[in-house]
Amino acid sequence: MMQPVIIGGGLAGGSVATRLAQLGHAPVLLEREPGAHDKICGEFLSVEASRHLAAIGFDVARLGGARIDTMRLHVGGRTAEARLPFVATGITRRSLDAALLDHAAAAGAEIRRGISVRHIDEGRVVTAEGEIGRGPVILATGKHELRGEARDPAGTIADLIGFKQFFRTTPALSRALAGAVTVTAFDGGYAGLQCVEGGRLNLCLLVDRARFKGAGSWEALFAALVREPGLALLADAEPLLPRPLTIAAVPYGYLATPAAGDPIWRLGDQAAVIPSFCGDGMAMALHGGRLAADMLAAGAAPHHFQARLRRDVSRQVRLAIAVQRFAGTRAGRFALVAGLAAVPAALSALARWTRVETSAVARAGA
Ligand SMILES: Cc1cc2nc3c(=O)[nH]c(=O)nc-3n(C[C@H](O)[C@H](O)[C@H](O)COP(=O)(O)OP(=O)(O)OC[C@H]3O[C@@H](n4cnc5c(N)ncnc54)[C@H](O)[C@@H]3O)c2cc1C
Repeated sequence: MMQPVIIGGGLAGGSVATRLAQLGHAPVLLEREPGAHDKICGEFLSVEASRHLAAIGFDVARLGGARIDTMRLHVGGRTAEARLPFVATGITRRSLDAALLDHAAAAGAEIRRGISVRHIDEGRVVTAEGEIGRGPVILATGKHELRGEARDPAGTIADLIGFKQFFRTTPALSRALAGAVTVTAFDGGYAGLQCVEGGRLNLCLLVDRARFKGAGSWEALFAALVREPGLALLADAEPLLPRPLTIAAVPYGYLATPAAGDPIWRLGDQAAVIPSFCGDGMAMALHGGRLAADMLAAGAAPHHFQARLRRDVSRQVRLAIAVQRFAGTRAGRFALVAGLAAVPAALSALARWTRVETSAVARAGA
């Protein structure tokens, strides 16, 4: 029986811990946050993510998320709308991630919360409380870099700042957004808006540094953004967090390079970062969690896993980056919304092509 040490209790860490425990191993998972917490994320859970969760015995429906079956793209006053080729769920990371860690613990994983890993020293995981474990090391710290293991941002889009705020729904807002995820592309960024459980709306957006600097503050940026037709419905909405959550320097387009001899298993955002508008980062984190557990249990080397994961997700990441770069120009944005409004099937196809393929999900056992 192995005792792998998993660093990070997001979806990648929670899923690999669950599956390893189900396979008879005794993983230890270290999560720096002491309890359930909000995370910066659009909270659009794709069907592939739900399938991966179901395959490890986790029923996401019991968390009561919002049903999403339509996608709307707004650019200025123009809108393209299409049915998604699947049903997705709007669910908060606060409840999803905490429930998954409980599920991992029930399967037999040891979950240690409130422990921050400092670095990895020749295969040993070093924390403030000393070294932990002697088994294989799984790095699942998501958006956060671990000292000595930072991802190389070369060639990625890393100049965006992310913001997330919840708003209280009203009957009018619920009617306007029922069943839909909306993406509003604007000068210097884009925003996603959708319902999640508990009578809340999630607004999650990315802006480049220049646009944020021009605005000068979150308040000024938000005031400018609600003048966009796609976001105008939030003008009088009540924010629920005292301050929005923020993140910077996410290396969009990053793909970990498999290296023979690297002893570390890299999962989730530490392995691949897909642009947020795709809403597939969570599915990729769960996909990697499943593959890593099965390959580790079967005696594979980390670089073989890394190569397999890269094969499964690299086309999607590259296509999404190309769309993001195209939509980054004003002409590109307007051409995109005009084309997608004229051919709504293309919007559904784009949503399908930027996801982990159904066949790859099935091959991974979900
Ligand atoms: C703005 C934005 C919007 C997004 N919207 C969506 C969306 O709508 N749908 C979607 O599918 N994906 C979305 N994503 C992507 C998605 O959030 C990530 O792909 C996903 O969370 C990756 O999961 P993970 O487990 O790798 O990392 P995370 O969820 O980031 O979890 C990592 C965990 O590691 C812990 N940790 C970090 N450092 C340490 C340490 N040193 N020691 C111990 N613990 C540590 C953290 O506390 C955290 O709990 C979005 C991302 C961004 C930035």
